[in-house]
Amino acid sequence: MRITPFGAAGTVTGSRFLVQSGRRKLLVDAGLFQGVKPLRLRNWRPFPVPPSSLDAIILTHAHLDHSGFLPVLVRDGFKGDIWMSPPTRDLLPILLFDAARLQEEDARYAGRKGYSRHANPRPLFTQDDVEHTVRRLRRLDFDSPREVQGVRVSLHRVGHLLGAAAVHLTDDEGTVLFSGDVGRAGDLLLPAPAQRPEADRVVLEGTYGDRSHDRSQTLQTLAEVVNAGLGRGGTILIPTFAVGRAQALALALYRLRERGGIPDVPMYLNSPMANEASGVHLEHVEELRPSRQELTAALEAVQPVITTEESRALNRRNEPKIILAGAGMLTGGRILHHLEAFGTQATTTLILAGYQAEGTRGRRLLEGDRRIRVHGEWLELRCRVELFDAFSGHGDRDELEAWLRSAAIPPLGVSLVHGESQALERFRQRLDGRLQVPVEVAEDGRPLGLDPWSAAAPLDLGD
Ligand SMILES: [Zn+2]
Repeated sequence: MRITPFGAAGTVTGSRFLVQSGRRKLLVDAGLFQGVKPLRLRNWRPFPVPPSSLDAIILTHAHLDHSGFLPVLVRDGFKGDIWMSPPTRDLLPILLFDAARLQEEDARYAGRKGYSRHANPRPLFTQDDVEHTVRRLRRLDFDSPREVQGVRVSLHRVGHLLGAAAVHLTDDEGTVLFSGDVGRAGDLLLPAPAQRPEADRVVLEGTYGDRSHDRSQTLQTLAEVVNAGLGRGGTILIPTFAVGRAQALALALYRLRERGGIPDVPMYLNSPMANEASGVHLEHVEELRPSRQELTAALEAVQPVITTEESRALNRRNEPKIILAGAGMLTGGRILHHLEAFGTQATTTLILAGYQAEGTRGRRLLEGDRRIRVHGEWLELRCRVELFDAFSGHGDRDELEAWLRSAAIPPLGVSLVHGESQALERFRQRLDGRLQVPVEVAEDGRPLGLDPWSAAAPLDLGD
């Protein structure tokens, strides 16, 4: 098997790994590049291999940085099956349709405002492209190997997001394991990552490969922040991602309320997408840690807000309450309307529940900025801003190493992907000193595991 990364090498987004086995070409993950503009522009470059020449695609999980390029590949000629775990199959359309809607809106907006260089700005992909993509999605059960285009494929739970899998491939030449994103023990929703299967090569993510998570924050921390905010008689705003994070926050708040840790105030989940994702979590509750009964109660404890009228009505309610709404880093979504309504009041508390990427409003607020632009107007925020960061879905360097070591036989080689270059290089040095196995930092467009001399041989991408 020859494996070449075309993304997620020296960066955390755009996971796309070309696997050549004999004359077959598979792709593991088809992710979007996200974040700063130079990265996003890479989504518009044609894929180095004609999509029509790919025989199949296998997904690790539903997050867009692993799946959001699928509609482009399908539009540009991919005709094969797209394999994934059953929960991923059910979550994926929610994420893809939402992404298409946002891109269509942005293109229309850019067209109206005339700030695009193009006379007719177009979205990267449309809801129509997503419709065509969804028809190609196929379910592959966990731990149930299946032959796909001459390659044996199996999926293994990694505790990162509902449905998230490590992808294990076997052909005549050997075995390889793609970690996808690896989660952690102690997640509220997901069981700890399973012991990893043995493989000749492990392609390991390193998002937090040079860091240890701060473990000082617990549910008690969340209770203290919420109680202080409600004690001031104010509203608690929690920006949240719709899939996974919203459900974990709902469960956390429900548990705190059940044991008297926080008072019984109205709680709302203002995100049609999150409410849809909650339904998928309930359908696959056997994959999760809470019982069906507890998860049902927790998701019912946060009242769904669906229509824009309901959303606006919330802004007129002045009693103490907790509102969860997207987007998680304040990059858009309904949370911005609540921020306009409540953010200028000193009694309001804004809880940023997780990592805030560079360039987002969330990051600026964390850095102490209180003047932010929302819907074309400057807002002077007087609310308190708190960070609650106990819910990371990624293992840190020790957790990643533990997962790597969890197989009985070590691999012959490890390739590090899905991390900033510096973080991966530090992770490589650390693993190099601790494992008796060659560890490399993957490079874009260079086949994994080859020395620089053989990599100089041209890669035949034709067909
Ligand atoms: Zn992920």
